[in-house]
Amino acid sequence: MMHLRSSRFVGTVAAGMALTWASCGGAKEQVRQPNILLITVDTLRADHLEPYGYGRPTSPALAKFAEQSMVFEDAQSSAPWTLPSFASLMTGLPSAAHGCKTFYSSLAPSYTTLAEELLAGGYDTAAVVSHVFLGRPYGLHQGFVHFDDELVLEMTRSDEVISSPSVTAKGLAFLQAKADAAMDEERPWFLWLHYFDPHAVYQAHASQTPTFGDQRDLDLYDGEIAFTDSHIGRLLDGLDDLGLGEETVVVFTADHGEEFGDHGGRDHGHTLYQELLHQPLILRVPGVPAGRYSSMVRSIDVPATLLDLAMLPPAAESFGKSLRPVLHGGVELDLPPALAELDRNEYRNQIGIITNETKFLIDRRTNTPSLFYRDRDRLEKHNRAKGSPQDVAALRIELRDLFDDAIKVAATHTDRVDQELGAADLQDLNKTGYSGDE
Ligand SMILES: [Zn+2]
Repeated sequence: MMHLRSSRFVGTVAAGMALTWASCGGAKEQVRQPNILLITVDTLRADHLEPYGYGRPTSPALAKFAEQSMVFEDAQSSAPWTLPSFASLMTGLPSAAHGCKTFYSSLAPSYTTLAEELLAGGYDTAAVVSHVFLGRPYGLHQGFVHFDDELVLEMTRSDEVISSPSVTAKGLAFLQAKADAAMDEERPWFLWLHYFDPHAVYQAHASQTPTFGDQRDLDLYDGEIAFTDSHIGRLLDGLDDLGLGEETVVVFTADHGEEFGDHGGRDHGHTLYQELLHQPLILRVPGVPAGRYSSMVRSIDVPATLLDLAMLPPAAESFGKSLRPVLHGGVELDLPPALAELDRNEYRNQIGIITNETKFLIDRRTNTPSLFYRDRDRLEKHNRAKGSPQDVAALRIELRDLFDDAIKVAATHTDRVDQELGAADLQDLNKTGYSGDE
């Protein structure tokens, strides 16, 4: 084992000090890998959360959590729907590289996931999933020793099932078992919990209706967020009550957002606009002060960051960079652009890159470019492509180069095969709210 890790509660050094990190100077500190708790919520727009300036009380628990954390204000997903987005979060690769782009896709076994890296680095690994695209056929279970897909298997209509209480109950049971085993268990753990409730069909929750109403989709959606937030709050309280908070890195994020007419549409999975790609990203690291980072970061940077915090080397293929240098403030990262892609079928085929200054999209059906200057048009309402030929030309080259790099990675994975979904499988997807759309 490459790390030197003492028993969980043996050292008095750890008490009250949170984690003691390895130091470059070789100081005589105990070196401990932190536990890692990854909390994700489906279909969660960053701008509907209080830590991101939302005016409605959707997220008191996450607001409290954010006050103890680094809030990344401009985190960008690689894709506007579940499967490619989570494949990126698990591999540190953009969609063109991991190849999970359609309902038929599955992450090939030859890819190395974050869970596999952590498992190899000494971690116990566990996941509780609540979305059909996180079920075993789609391949994201790779590396999880404990993989709880009970909620997926039980669902006949996942969009109408309320699952947040169960996800929290399963998470708390895992944490309790780890706390109980603390004296015997030397290994750190990685736990991924996925919450699904804000996904359509939006359900009314009696506890939230007085605050948000239940007439408009937007009201129901906000109520679903608040409902989910309350169960995440119970989970985070449980983590701290069990005494695990001071030795656990907690990262909170989403896979994609949701459109409510921002660009004339509804739902998700159909455009690359910011209401679908801007995601929350909040990272609590014991011993690290709270803060906010305003520059653009990418979902593919999350696995590299977590491996860095776990004192493990970055994954060989990953396009992501560790965000750890910004945790103590005063550092500005120089990240490559975010690459975003939508390649579900011939009707939904767009690609784009995002930097701090610009967002550039190409509709691949028509080769039509869109260009938005983010400093003055964050909501992407004014396409400036026609008046900016030089910027368009430069961004086309940058986009092509980044995309080509991603394609080269995909080409090395010769075991990539689409699932053979039969009529019955497609009917199941339809039942769970995933029609082919066109
Ligand atoms: Zn999703």
